[in-house]
Amino acid sequence: MSNYNPKSKIAEEFISNEEILETLEYAEKNKNNIQLIDEILKKARPKKTATGATCAGLTHREASVLLACDIPEKIEQIYKIAEEIKQAFYGNRIVIFAPLYLSNYCVNGCTYCPYHLKNKEIPRKKLTQDEVRAEVIALQDMGHKRLAIESGEDPVNNPIEYILECIKTIYSVKHKNGAIRRVNVNIAATTVENYRKLKEAGIGTYILFQETYHKESYLQLHPTGPKHDYAYHTEAMDRAMEGGIDDVGLGVLFGLERYKYEFAGLLMHAEHLEAVHGVGPHTISVPRLKRASDIDPTQFDNGIDDDTFAKITACIRLAVPYTGIIISTRESEEVRGRLLQMGVSQVSGGSRTSVGGYTTKDRPHDTEQFDVSDQRTLDEVVSWLMDYGHIPSFCTACYREGRTGDRFMSLCKSGQILNCCHPNALMTLTEYLTDYAGEETKKKGFSVIERELERIPNEKVKQIAEQNITDIKNSNRRDFRF
Ligand code: SAM
Repeated sequence: MSNYNPKSKIAEEFISNEEILETLEYAEKNKNNIQLIDEILKKARPKKTATGATCAGLTHREASVLLACDIPEKIEQIYKIAEEIKQAFYGNRIVIFAPLYLSNYCVNGCTYCPYHLKNKEIPRKKLTQDEVRAEVIALQDMGHKRLAIESGEDPVNNPIEYILECIKTIYSVKHKNGAIRRVNVNIAATTVENYRKLKEAGIGTYILFQETYHKESYLQLHPTGPKHDYAYHTEAMDRAMEGGIDDVGLGVLFGLERYKYEFAGLLMHAEHLEAVHGVGPHTISVPRLKRASDIDPTQFDNGIDDDTFAKITACIRLAVPYTGIIISTRESEEVRGRLLQMGVSQVSGGSRTSVGGYTTKDRPHDTEQFDVSDQRTLDEVVSWLMDYGHIPSFCTACYREGRTGDRFMSLCKSGQILNCCHPNALMTLTEYLTDYAGEETKKKGFSVIERELERIPNEKVKQIAEQNITDIKNSNRRDFRF
């Protein structure tokens, strides 16, 4: 008998190894079962409602059947539905952010991460508050409004007090017309009390990658340090939610374990959060293992090719339609371009993954966490997104208006996106174009905005958005939002 129980708070019961193995067996058995696959695809399609659209999502078993299926025609349908879902719930907006590395001091022994304790090649660095300020000014001068802060785990060098102080500093910097309006946090699993402090500090999403859901592999990949504790790590999101954080971000580091196992585990984790807390993950990230100091990705057996990666991303989009999908600059322009058509809703731009990387002219490599594949500037990324029909958005309105957790999900389902998120995206893009863009991007962007304003259905909202956009262009008034 399987011990599987999505409502349990015990890691090995909501991520049950037996349930994953049975799911993989079921998926393998049904991967050519056209009738079942068609039923699953039908369930996954968005349905129109009187006020907007809804989407049923898929269970981890159903989604695993799609992931196992290798019939080209069905894979094409999966991709098409992924794009339909993205358009129905997110429109053509793509949210932009940048990572900010605070410290690479770390006491863990993660075998895939260059920050591991025994790596003597990497110089250790921790930003002072003055350096945080300088990095934030550099990020604001690029045009960023949303950051994800990153740090190694080290209770002496980077205690929670240090992280909280950095958050305070980041929010306090107001340089020219710049401001960081949302700080997401990617730090090691911690206590309910510390999550409460992060919530009080005004963080957006708490992000923690599971790395792998396979317990035995997890223990081998994290041989030493506090991260070795599989249950403590896997149950972290429950503690975060108990501490009042209702936007949490999941992720798996693809390349460490077999992808089908990870995929089922990831969706079971999402189902668990929904079952226990009434709200699923706000975001899912899909990082792939990269070369880094003292890390050779070919030493790991489970690397995935670009086609498999695309299929995984599209299947996630079908399974959890209301969850944002994040893709970082670990991936190349080509891969990012492809995945943007399969449901990805957030990308990083102009990223540097070294501690203090934004204040040096040339890209520093010595303290880098991993090789950045997409090395374009933010302006190039913004311009490129518009070339492909996307609207780059610097919006942070939802969480500042208290639309987090299930309230964000309701907005997503209400069909009000074109009257709310869409104008917010256009207004924040106007801020970017007015304050930071190069001439060509500016020209392109303003004609995109003119065209996109016409798509706002509510006349009153459209008028207000137009007025705000004029104000942004002609004055220093900023930060309008619906
Ligand atoms: N220290 C925190 C923790 O343990 O969760 C989070 C910060 S760490 C800088 C962010 C993420 O980078 C990790 O969760 C891991 O998935 C990812 N990472 C580590 N090594 C990597 C590599 N070689 N290539 C790509 N991503 C990597």
